[in-house]
Amino acid sequence: MHTTKEVAGVSVSGDHWIGGQRVASSSAFEDVSPIDETVIAHIARGGPVEAAMAIAAAEQAFPQWAATPPAERARLLHRVADLVEERIEQLAIVETTDNGALLRSHLRGVMPRVAHNFRFFADYLVNDLHHPEFDTRGHTNRVSWDPSGVAVLITPWNAPLMLATWKVAPALAAGCTVVLKPAEWSPLTASLLADITAEAGLPPGVFNVVQGYGEDVGDALTGDPHVSRISFTGSVPTARLIAMSAAANLTPCSFELGGKSPFIVFADADMDSAVANAVEQYDNAGQVCLAGVRLLVQSSVHDEFVARFVARASALRQGDPRDLATDVGPQISREHFDRIDGFVQRALASGAEAVIGGGPNVDVAAPGRGNLYYQPTLLTGARPGSEVLTDEVFGPVLTISTFDTEDEAVALANGTEFGLAGVLFTGDPDRATRVGARLVAGTLWVNCFFVRDLRAPFGGSRHSGVGREGGSWSFDFYCDVKNTCTNNDRWITP
Ligand code: ADP
Repeated sequence: MHTTKEVAGVSVSGDHWIGGQRVASSSAFEDVSPIDETVIAHIARGGPVEAAMAIAAAEQAFPQWAATPPAERARLLHRVADLVEERIEQLAIVETTDNGALLRSHLRGVMPRVAHNFRFFADYLVNDLHHPEFDTRGHTNRVSWDPSGVAVLITPWNAPLMLATWKVAPALAAGCTVVLKPAEWSPLTASLLADITAEAGLPPGVFNVVQGYGEDVGDALTGDPHVSRISFTGSVPTARLIAMSAAANLTPCSFELGGKSPFIVFADADMDSAVANAVEQYDNAGQVCLAGVRLLVQSSVHDEFVARFVARASALRQGDPRDLATDVGPQISREHFDRIDGFVQRALASGAEAVIGGGPNVDVAAPGRGNLYYQPTLLTGARPGSEVLTDEVFGPVLTISTFDTEDEAVALANGTEFGLAGVLFTGDPDRATRVGARLVAGTLWVNCFFVRDLRAPFGGSRHSGVGREGGSWSFDFYCDVKNTCTNNDRWITP
C-alpha cells in the first residue's frame, strides 16, 4: 500500500526509495507530530526484505557512480544543493512539523546548511582532495581515494536532514552509493531528499532510503556483507549493537554518539557572553548531542552567574515551533518526554533543587491536545555522581556545580564516560591553553559555542564516538585510500 500525505501543505511519500522507485511495505507505522501529538503520516515499516533490496540496488549502481568523473559527481551534488535551496521553506515546515524543532532555525540556519553540506563536499572533492606523491629511490608512491562501495547511513531525529546530509554528501562525493535509514520519529525530510536527488539527475540506486524501526531493519543493514561502510549517529547502546553486527564482516564504522559536555565558566570570563551562550544550551529544546549541559562555574562568580542566567532564561518564549517568535519548542515524543521528566523528578527527590523549571509547561499546549513542552530547567545541588550529572538526558535540563581551582574544573569536566564537546569561558588565553589541553573532547569551544567549519574534524572521544568526519576525514572514511608504488625504471619504450 503506497502512502503519500500532505504534511503542512507539502506532499510527502511515506514509502521507501529504492533503485529510483517508491517501494511500499505490507505494514506502516504512525508518524506523530510533537507539536500537538497528532498523527501526520503513515510510514512504510521496512524490514530485512527492504533492507536487502536497497543494498542490492545500491550495489548495482555502484560501479557506474564510482566511475563517474569527480567533476560530474560534484555537478550533480551542486544540483541537489540548488533544489534544496529552492525548497528551503517546504523542507523547513515539514521538518518542524515532524520533529518539533524551531521553524525559525530551520529557515535561517539548518536548511541552508543542508545545501551547504552538498556544496562543501562537492567542492572539496574537486578542489581540495590532494593526491600526494612520495618519491622513494626512483619509485613513486601515489595516493588515491577509491570509492569503497555501499555506505549505510543511520541517523537520529534531533536534526534529521542536517545530520543525514552531513553523511550523504561526503559519501556520494566519495563515489559511494548510499542507503539512508532515517529515524522513525522523523522520517519525512529523508523522503523529500529522495525526490530532490531524482530531480537533480542522480542515477537510480545511487541514493536509497529505507524507512522503519531500527530494531526491524538494523541488523539487516549493518550485518550485510555487501556494505562497505556504516556511519551512525545516535545512542551508545545502539552503537554497540551495530558494532557487533558489523564485526561479522569487519565493516568499518564511524560513530557519533552521545555527550554530557561541560560548560566551564572562570571568574575572569566575559560574563555577558558566558551567560548568553549558556542559555543557548536550551536550543532545540535541549535535544543536541553537543550541548554543554553541565554548567561548571567558578565559586566566586556563581551567584552573579545564576542571577543573570535566570533573568535571561526566564525571557525565553516556549511554544509552537512554527511561530517565528518561539525560542523553545516541544520534546520529540511522549516516550522521550517521560524519560526526561524521570531524570528531573528523581534528581529532585534525592536532594537537587530546580532553580528554574522542573516539569512540563502546562501553559503552552492547546486544550485537549498533547503537551510535550518541557520547561527549560536548571538544577542545582545534584548529588555528585548521580545520574543527572553523568547520563545523557537530552532535554532542556542543565545542572550547575561550582569549582575553585583549575584542577577541580578539569576533574569535574572529565568526570563522565563521554567526550564529545567542551565549552570553556575565560578571559585569559594562557588559561584557555592550559585547561583546554587537559579536557577530553572531540570539539572544544573557547569563548564561543556551536561555530562549525566543515573542513575541521568532528567526532567524539571516549564513548562519544569512534572516528572523525568532516573535510578530508570524511573522505578517509568513505574511501579505500590506496597507495600505488611504481618503479619508474621499468617502462619498456618501443
Ligand atoms: P536515539 O536515542 O537518539 O533515538 P537510537 O540510537 O535509538 O538513538 O536511534 C538512532 C538511529 O538508530 C535511528 O535511526 C534508529 O532507528 C536506529 N537504530 C535503532 N536501533 C538500531 C539497531 N539495532 N541497528 C541499527 N540501527 C538502529
